[in-house]
Amino acid sequence: MHLLGTESAFEVLARAGALQREGRSIINLGIGQPDFPTPEHIVEAGRKALADGHHGYTLANGILPLREAVVADLHRRHGVTVSPERVLIVPGGKVTMFFAMMMFGEPGTEIIYPNPGFPIYESAIRYSGATPVPMPLHEDKGFSFSAEEVLALITPRTRLLILNSPANPTGGTVPKSELDRLVAGLERHPDVAIMSDEIYGEIVFGEPTVSLSTYPGLTDRLILLDGWSKTYAMTGWRLGYGVWPEALAPHAERMAINCHSCVNAASQYAGIAALQGPREPVRRMVAAFSERRAYVVPALNALPGVSCVDPGGAFYAFPNISGTGLGSSALQSRLLEEAGIATISGTSFGALGEGYLRVSYAAGMAQLREAIGRMGDLLARL
Ligand code: PLP
Repeated sequence: MHLLGTESAFEVLARAGALQREGRSIINLGIGQPDFPTPEHIVEAGRKALADGHHGYTLANGILPLREAVVADLHRRHGVTVSPERVLIVPGGKVTMFFAMMMFGEPGTEIIYPNPGFPIYESAIRYSGATPVPMPLHEDKGFSFSAEEVLALITPRTRLLILNSPANPTGGTVPKSELDRLVAGLERHPDVAIMSDEIYGEIVFGEPTVSLSTYPGLTDRLILLDGWSKTYAMTGWRLGYGVWPEALAPHAERMAINCHSCVNAASQYAGIAALQGPREPVRRMVAAFSERRAYVVPALNALPGVSCVDPGGAFYAFPNISGTGLGSSALQSRLLEEAGIATISGTSFGALGEGYLRVSYAAGMAQLREAIGRMGDLLARL
């Protein structure tokens, strides 16, 4: 059990809550979820599903209309055609990653993962018994990777390569040219499977990111991870999906049957409404994130000892704080304890996150302005 890590965003959330209960004014820039409610037509579909009596188990891989809606959405967004049999509906994006790690990882194998990256990758890899091999992301490349560097990490023991664009915690996106080079190089490694975590795929500010699903050569070894949590502000509904290679889909489904049987029915009906409903609520949320990013990034850059590259997607800024004279973890706790600002230390996302801080801008403009002001006051005192 000691191999299993955690996600310190939940610990920061708990500490921020405790300080708030003591009467302190806390601004939470630590949490990785949209600060918007789920759009009303989606909530209504969930309510209606309950009223209509959808109270029982569903198919383990998800109700067919939802998997068909996923297929249509993938076609709309990426122009790809997949069969609904390859889609496995799961309770949140995390489940696909855990299943992939349990399926591919075992002692003696290696799994390559982005660092700094979503902490559950490294945790689940270790838990599987595999050796986690960090793929460095580079600030001067907008937190993308270098395809040559990633390919050089592959050994005969490599089973799985994890990609995440747009990324948590950096907001970084990988340009198509870099992906093209990586995919071309992967032809020399046909036994390496890929898990592409595209859960922030619709929250992009410049060039849309390219889905790995658009590379036909990868179809029989690509696990696509996506879900509703971020795009539709549905983190608490617990709804996500994986698109699995045809040969692996039945195995992934058996894992679901062993683990959770199926996702709760009402969430699945809500998921259909999300995919088939108006795009306007999503556009509005992305526009709000874009406006906040336009404020936060220059404001962070103006703080003493701080520099911040423009994130291409998601709702995180990942400022370099090495000029402040404090380590990431020390700055995280001083910001929380002395300034009432919850952020997450870059080291929570892997060893290569030292010298950075994750700032979530899924918070209102007034809160962001207040937070930047308080951060500036603290940094000036250092
Ligand atoms: N993948 C990444 C990169 C994330 O940041 C998150 C959540 O923060 C997830 C997956 C998990 O999403 P879910 O809440 O749907 O399990």
